[in-house]
Amino acid sequence: MNVDLHCHTNVSDGALTPAELIELADERSIDMLSITDHDTLAAYQELGQGSDRLRIVPGIEFSSQWRKSGVHIVGLNLNLNSDEILLGVAQQSKARSERGEKISEKLQRLGFDNCLEGAKGYTSGGEVGRPHFAQHLVAIGAVTNIAQAFKKYLGAGKAGDIKEQWADLDTVIGWIRAAGGVAVLAHPVKYKMTRTKLVSLLDDFTAAGGEGLEVISGLQIPSVTRDLAALCRKHHLLASCGSDFHSSGQPWASLGMVAQLPDNLTPVWSRWV
Ligand code: AMP
Ligand code: ZN
Ligand code: FE
Ligand code: FE
Repeated sequence: MNVDLHCHTNVSDGALTPAELIELADERSIDMLSITDHDTLAAYQELGQGSDRLRIVPGIEFSSQWRKSGVHIVGLNLNLNSDEILLGVAQQSKARSERGEKISEKLQRLGFDNCLEGAKGYTSGGEVGRPHFAQHLVAIGAVTNIAQAFKKYLGAGKAGDIKEQWADLDTVIGWIRAAGGVAVLAHPVKYKMTRTKLVSLLDDFTAAGGEGLEVISGLQIPSVTRDLAALCRKHHLLASCGSDFHSSGQPWASLGMVAQLPDNLTPVWSRWV
């Protein structure tokens, strides 16, 4: 079974419309797909129920803050009509708007004018994210590419890395559970935490009601998969997998190009199939 439970559309920082994403999922013979846009469910307003072949699992990727780190929590198999999740999305949307203004102010102080307006030009009318600021910084020649924009201005510890306004773990996991969903800690390797810190995060995550771990995120080397599988088992978590697809031309995050989960893990979809 080809399962991809983490990807983005242009309602957040992906390149494809929801309909184009579904078309690509069909081309790639995906059986089960979750669109997990950053802090928004807007893609689902444009979609039907999928097809006989493709099962669509309603999902989201919430931004959160744990201690001083930004972390991402994927919520899967959500009831899209839940009041709690809609409230959560509204709160995060407000937080994202305010954060956009703060990022813009920070960049202003570094000599770059009107960055919020510039960044908005790269959205499809949805919420602004750091990738949109990165595109703007490339366009005005402040940096030569997106990676450099994150390295110099937007990535962890840089001026534009503002995360204080995101809801905390308990709150985010609460919204997901209230909507009947499963909370999954996304791409644990991306946080570049020490092992001790990652274990503390998992302890707090499970204590807050988190139930899943993304054991596979995009292309990853087998030793990382083995390591995350061991963590997943140790913390009695359900295993999830996804590409974190945003656009073509990123072979490390290609839609549906997701390795099989190792045996002896309980797949997160055991909850709904
Ligand atoms: P935001 O939701 O606004 O905090 O933006 C987070 C998104 O920025 C991630 O989901 C990635 O798509 C992108 N991103 C984060 N770090 C980098 C990086 N170093 N290079 C390129 N894109 C990045
Ligand atoms: Zn993203
Ligand atoms: Fe993420
Ligand atoms: Fe993502």
